Amino acid sequence: MSEVKKEELKFDTLKVRGGYDSSKHNHSVSVPIYETAAFDLGSTDRAKRLFSFSEPGFIYTRLSNPTVEVLEQRVAALDGASGAIALSSGMAAITYTLLNLAEDGGRILTTPYLYGGTLDGFKKLYPKFGIDIDKFHDFNNPEAISKEIKPDTKAIFIESISNPNTSVSDIETIAKVAHEHDIPLVVDNTFATPYLLNPIKYGADIVIYSATKALNGHGNVIAGLILESGKFNWGNGKFNQFLEPYYTLRDNNDDARNFLEVFPDFPFTTRIRLNYLNYFGSALSPFDAYLALLGIETLSERVKKQIENTEKIINYLKNSTKVSWIKYPTLENNPYKKLADKYLPKGAGSIFTFGFKGTDSQIDKFINSLKIFSYHTNVGDSRSLIVNSPKTTHSELTPEEKQLSNILPNTIRLSIGLEDAEDLIHDLNQAFEKAFESEKIESKDIIK
Ligand SMILES: *Cc1c(COP(=O)(O)O)cnc(C)c1O
Repeated sequence: MSEVKKEELKFDTLKVRGGYDSSKHNHSVSVPIYETAAFDLGSTDRAKRLFSFSEPGFIYTRLSNPTVEVLEQRVAALDGASGAIALSSGMAAITYTLLNLAEDGGRILTTPYLYGGTLDGFKKLYPKFGIDIDKFHDFNNPEAISKEIKPDTKAIFIESISNPNTSVSDIETIAKVAHEHDIPLVVDNTFATPYLLNPIKYGADIVIYSATKALNGHGNVIAGLILESGKFNWGNGKFNQFLEPYYTLRDNNDDARNFLEVFPDFPFTTRIRLNYLNYFGSALSPFDAYLALLGIETLSERVKKQIENTEKIINYLKNSTKVSWIKYPTLENNPYKKLADKYLPKGAGSIFTFGFKGTDSQIDKFINSLKIFSYHTNVGDSRSLIVNSPKTTHSELTPEEKQLSNILPNTIRLSIGLEDAEDLIHDLNQAFEKAFESEKIESKDIIK
């Protein structure tokens, strides 16, 4: 079967077939793993064409690789993107995106509701590279966002569903404000995956994934992706890097050209490929790309069941006297319920937080008593897992920053997998019983 046209097919077909033409790969049904560092240039004439980008092809796996390219094209198809690049981690995807936007200095506007590593990198490293980070709390309020945009703000960066507390971003509203100011909206869509939400549909210009999480979904790969909509006008005067002439992009007369001229449909990800991936590294290995592709084949089925399991577990926790609150967007009393109805009609994913009504040592005892849930820092894994976010995934944050990010000291984050929901509920139940077994509790020690 030849390469499938992205526009014509539905999500579930694309997730197993998108971006792949078996006739170009010895009719191999499964995507082959091209475990090679380099590719034969063939002849000096062909080398000339390859190095001048007049003929598409593979040169060296740091830049591109056929297995990795199928992953890029498949996820681009799932999200309706014009271009994509895969990298060796979600963090590399975030870093390269923001450097590609603000490499000559400037500001990125974001919220305090982000993955701990992202928040900490923003604080510790970005200012040293001349990129200052501004944060706004009232992040779904267009007037409030507008006020925070300065002349040198280069982009707005948000998570569609935030880590760990699952706040939902009003992507359409935020994209509109960004575009009024001629800047792009970057959405980290890791928690939602393309199955639950396609940010480009709502105006996002760049979409980022940690494919490590639910996209791959098997907890066996570290990988990241950057996608672009192909709609943002990089020639609007704010992003001179796209208009800069490069000798490497020269035409037949040896005249230097810029990224917008040579790659008008996907200048953003190509510029990352030819500059950042080329010179900073962080290439995804073909084997890891293969594993991610395998994972994506069952994305809908996994996420669907994980949401069903999540809802059952939330129902159990709702009735527990040991739980003081639950944050999950589709719950009736959740402040993001309306946005969840709009952006997440298939459900809000398999990750949520709850407040443990007990002491610090009871939280420890609870976690240490679990037999099925594993205690590890990942999400979207096919195995259910638990973390005490304030002490693990968000431990980098100072107490003040945690307060700002609304991460309460008794926060427990669950990511629900594919096990039997009843087994998971029994596991939580027996761990609660152990945690509250014999210990005499002083009410002053209970974390509210
Ligand atoms: C895990 C995560 C990242 C970082 O991705 P890695 O693949 O671990 O580098 C970025 N954003 C979000 C929302 C995440 O959960």
